[in-house]
Amino acid sequence: MYLVREGSGPVERGARDTVGGWPILPAGEPWPVCFCGERMILFFQADIPADVAVFGGEHLLVFQCPVHNEAVSADDMSGELPERFWDEPPRRYHGEGAFWRIMLHRDDTDPAVEVEPYLQPRVLEVGRATERITVWSLGDALLDDRDPDEVFAARGDGVDEFKIGGVPCWAQERESFTCPCGAELRFVCQLPENTGFDKQPHQPEQNFTFGPGEYGLFLGNMVYIFACPARCHPAAAWPVNQN
Ligand SMILES: [Zn+2]
Ligand SMILES: [Zn+2]
Repeated sequence: MYLVREGSGPVERGARDTVGGWPILPAGEPWPVCFCGERMILFFQADIPADVAVFGGEHLLVFQCPVHNEAVSADDMSGELPERFWDEPPRRYHGEGAFWRIMLHRDDTDPAVEVEPYLQPRVLEVGRATERITVWSLGDALLDDRDPDEVFAARGDGVDEFKIGGVPCWAQERESFTCPCGAELRFVCQLPENTGFDKQPHQPEQNFTFGPGEYGLFLGNMVYIFACPARCHPAAAWPVNQN
């Protein structure tokens, strides 16, 4: 598991672990645009360290609309996601359309020409750390022959940090989703509640902001990013929100 922290120093074009800055997009993918027509904000991007399960070696990018700021949730959480859910998410999860885009790729692409204009660019440090798993109820899970590590990961909660890899720290019931390609989505990254990103001083306050001067993802809810392990599309990723 790796913790994500803000570092110091200027962000140069080509930096890969950043808040804002110059997105390193998948081949053939333009800078994402919201269903409303606004170009989305690059909140952060990071290289996933090679030894992270499933997604090691991928480059992760997380975008959200500067206008639309909502939670992605539904009463009946888990389920099968429809074809091209990244372009047309099921309506039961939220209001209107895809106001976010989360991408993963291994392409050898150049950074975008333009810098993200809404957020103050920051260097991110992705540092190895030890996951701590809390198990609230094991029941009889350890009575059979299953690997105890798997049992703990399946029933426990990891630390509540901005992290890549490891075990999600669920605030509510755990959720699981199936990609239209048939693969079960796997955990990539978590952001704690009210994780704020400093805006550029001349930009407006975010709609429904939780912190003046900051922009946040999905109304400041906890964010659990899941993605398709088969990597059937660079944007085959889903944000789970809880509070
Ligand atoms: Zn929008
Ligand atoms: Zn898939």
